[in-house]
Amino acid sequence: MRLGPFDTSRINVRSSDGGGGGGGMGPRGIGCGTLVIALIGAVVFGLDPMQTIGVLQGVQQQSAPTQGGGGRELSEQEVCTSSEYAQEACNALTSLDATWEAAFQRAGIAFEQPVLDLYRGGQVSTQGCGSASAAVGPFYCPADKGIYIDTGFYDTLAQMAGTGGDFARLYVIAHEYGHHIQNLTGIADQVRAAQRSNPAAANRLQVAMELQADCYAGMWAGKNRQLIEAGDLEEGLKAASAIGDDTLQRNAGQGVNPESFTHGTSRQRMEALRLGLEATDDSACDAYFR
Ligand SMILES: [Zn+2]
Repeated sequence: MRLGPFDTSRINVRSSDGGGGGGGMGPRGIGCGTLVIALIGAVVFGLDPMQTIGVLQGVQQQSAPTQGGGGRELSEQEVCTSSEYAQEACNALTSLDATWEAAFQRAGIAFEQPVLDLYRGGQVSTQGCGSASAAVGPFYCPADKGIYIDTGFYDTLAQMAGTGGDFARLYVIAHEYGHHIQNLTGIADQVRAAQRSNPAAANRLQVAMELQADCYAGMWAGKNRQLIEAGDLEEGLKAASAIGDDTLQRNAGQGVNPESFTHGTSRQRMEALRLGLEATDDSACDAYFR
């Protein structure tokens, strides 16, 4: 996508790092094919809020800001210009904020921006969800409204056939942003309550949450159609297909087991992205909870 320049006066960006600078424990430090498959199978693509809370270890911790070279916290400008990935993510966030703020205004719902936390490797200490190792992949923490992305994950994404383009990375951040929308609208709380009262439906509701986040990602792209470049949609659909639970389970050498799906099948994820892309009204993604 041809995303415009980021605007740090309008977005919330930071870089937290829980001290993984030593590097030995990060995914890249291990670096074998098995791990990549494990990463793809268990991690790829944003754990949902509930799962994330389950995976994250520890109780609430204070975030430890990344220290710049001089031992100080990085400014938003410094975070956004620290790498091409960071720049791209900040561009995307600027666009996502503008797009969703307008949609919330149309719906008469109070909007609040998320915080994008770009870290690299090791561990991250969130403000509201404890600490997480980079191995959990991109995730959203509802308690601190943070979208946490280990930019090293993008390298993993690039290693997956056909998912190395910019749109695959944008899809990751837009999907996590989708969980932020679910947090703001209250659907996340409603789903959690429904899961508690009806455990038999918990998995189905979980998948619906993920597909709705995919749909929101597609809707953002669809609302910025003029910025889409040739090949973007194919890239997005390929990424959506590559990270379907059935494909991931097959690739991991497991039989396909719908009971353990958390994000939906490849086909469902592609359809969710497409539903959002082609939506003509803001409520199209509500389809998952009708
Ligand atoms: Zn998700």
